[in-house]
Amino acid sequence: MKGVASIVLLAALASLALAAPDRRFPKTGKEWTPQSLVNPDELGDYFEGDIVLPLPLMGRNGLIDEKYRWPGGRVAYEFDTTYSESNKDKVRKAMNEYETQTAGCISFHERTSEGDYILFKHDNNDGCHSSVGKRGGRQSINYPQWCLDKFGSTLHEMLHALGFHHEQSRYDRDDYVTIMWENIEAGHEHNFNKYSSSVISGFGEDYDYGSVMHYSAHAFSANGEKTIVTKDPNAHIGQRVGLSEVDWAKLKKMYKC
Ligand SMILES: [Zn+2]
Repeated sequence: MKGVASIVLLAALASLALAAPDRRFPKTGKEWTPQSLVNPDELGDYFEGDIVLPLPLMGRNGLIDEKYRWPGGRVAYEFDTTYSESNKDKVRKAMNEYETQTAGCISFHERTSEGDYILFKHDNNDGCHSSVGKRGGRQSINYPQWCLDKFGSTLHEMLHALGFHHEQSRYDRDDYVTIMWENIEAGHEHNFNKYSSSVISGFGEDYDYGSVMHYSAHAFSANGEKTIVTKDPNAHIGQRVGLSEVDWAKLKKMYKC
């Protein structure tokens, strides 16, 4: 019986090995589904998944230098020609969220002649990505379909462009999370960098597990094990529903709303 059980077990293991890739841990945005244990914005090949280099100085996860802010909180934008009306509506819904929640302190308008602006791209062969802060001139946010279909990821990329980095990049993050380096996919270790207090600021707010800018627990996992373990065993990280109260507070402080 023992021998038979072993054979059955081996056969089961073999079929698991031959099975399709685990959909809970997609490696590309195209494999992402709402059931995935990582977020679509964590699946790009960019720096930290979705950030276009170079990085400006950041002020705990918000940029300190005011030159990287949009003057008056006013952001000019254009859609590239590949946007359907329904996809434009998804981006506008995210813009409206910023305008409503900040009582108009942050606003978006279609570009006329502004030199500094965001070009919204819709390239499904590329990951979700944005620069951090206003870079000067044209800068792009790419929203492939899977990023438009996850409202929190749509908001996440805009918050990068407004001047915020990932929450787990804060210099004090090791007091709140443990990075499981041995579980991180080779070559992606840089995604878990942290930055000194001269570079980024938390605008007086404590570390926020609930931030829309926090990675999920399995981001860039090589083996399906967690790459980030919270020191608070009850904390949940990686939500992409919307900005947390702390996210809103920091954004309003950055823009002096
Ligand atoms: Zn990001």
